[in-house]
Amino acid sequence: MHEHEHEHEHEHDHDHAHDDDVDARAEAEAEVRRRFALAQIRQYGDVALRMAARPVEDFDDDLRRLAERMTGLMHDAQGVGLAATQVGVVRRLFVFEPDEDGPRTLVNPVVVERSDETASDEEGCLSLQGVRVPVERAASLVLAGKDENGDDVRYDLEGYGARVAQHELDHLDGVLIIDRTDDEHRKEALAILRPRAVLG
Ligand SMILES: [Zn+2]
Repeated sequence: MHEHEHEHEHEHDHDHAHDDDVDARAEAEAEVRRRFALAQIRQYGDVALRMAARPVEDFDDDLRRLAERMTGLMHDAQGVGLAATQVGVVRRLFVFEPDEDGPRTLVNPVVVERSDETASDEEGCLSLQGVRVPVERAASLVLAGKDENGDDVRYDLEGYGARVAQHELDHLDGVLIIDRTDDEHRKEALAILRPRAVLG
């Protein structure tokens, strides 16, 4: 994610060399955090990823702690969404960042409206490392549910935000992007995933 736009555009003086050291260290630390987060996220082959999650009943401190932990993992893993099933909690909630206003928690989400118009784009998944496949999704979506405090929330989402939400909704029903793509891409994805699934 990090770009060294100016790296080769001019000679390095002392300050720039120092900046590069700081950048390199920050990048290395981010990579350690990313790997540590991914190690805590269930990976393809784990049964939790295939389970249909049950509704959340109690809006208590445990739920808020879970949402907080999931938000931290999502950020550290450099993802834009994370469903509870991905951390082995088979309950209907996910965290996501549908826009630039920061992370949100959606509990017991319900689709109120879904556009007939669809769009296809590549998606990755924190539970399917190394895989990117095209997935067709509704172009816009209205979702209702609760936040982590039990207050009603409603989101009118389009484009990118709608895509992220539909990806996370799928997780709550045990559905993965390889189920939504075409045969050719599914085959390619499984070739990447299978060796890892066997190993653990
Ligand atoms: Zn995913």
